[in-house]
Amino acid sequence: MDDSRSALVLFSGGQDSTTCLAWALNRFRHVETVAFDYRQRHRIELDQRLVVLDEIRARFPQWAERLGEDHFVDMAVLGQISETSLTREVAFTMEQDGLPNTFVPGRNLLFFTFAAAIAWRRNIRNLVGGMCETDYSGYPDCRDNTIKALQVTINLGMDRSFVLHTPLMWLDKAETWALAQELGGEPLVETIREHTHTCYRNERDQKHDWGYGCGECPACVLRKRGFENWKAAAP
Ligand code: ZN
Repeated sequence: MDDSRSALVLFSGGQDSTTCLAWALNRFRHVETVAFDYRQRHRIELDQRLVVLDEIRARFPQWAERLGEDHFVDMAVLGQISETSLTREVAFTMEQDGLPNTFVPGRNLLFFTFAAAIAWRRNIRNLVGGMCETDYSGYPDCRDNTIKALQVTINLGMDRSFVLHTPLMWLDKAETWALAQELGGEPLVETIREHTHTCYRNERDQKHDWGYGCGECPACVLRKRGFENWKAAAP
């Protein structure tokens, strides 16, 4: 495999990582995916991601031939050591330091480091993640400088030249919907609305214009607002 033409996408099965997967499939010749089970409360995303992968294979033949192996990493230990509202049955609140208690310390640092370890074995050079610091939740490990520093750290620590891509970094949620439309047209927007999972409460009973979810948790609110702003801005 020509490693510079291949990518590994951090693929959770949500709106952002599905858009990142489409971005990578457009750009690289061979694309693999990885998911992490850290005992998140919204574990349904781990089932939905397989549905999304099937949909992409079925609806986008030009992408299907590029889509390779899917990797699954059991990271139960992260759930064990994290006292957060994503890993415990507690309410979503803001902490005194201004961070929401949905922040899982170390999560993205670990995800990229483990992804790099897989990419090393698979001879893949490009790593892709959906981190974004535009209208995000304030997570410090989503910031551009964090990811850039992590790229340097990983490359020094593994003596490689991985490239960490974050195509959503400077997009707001409305622009992320627009990017999906640009990359895969209506079929991709439909796949995202119907099959991706974002809701922190694990809820998929209620259907909205923007997809399934409780409509009230921080993840649903961001996704809903982005969809409405995108629709409002569309000609
Ligand atoms: Zn929700």
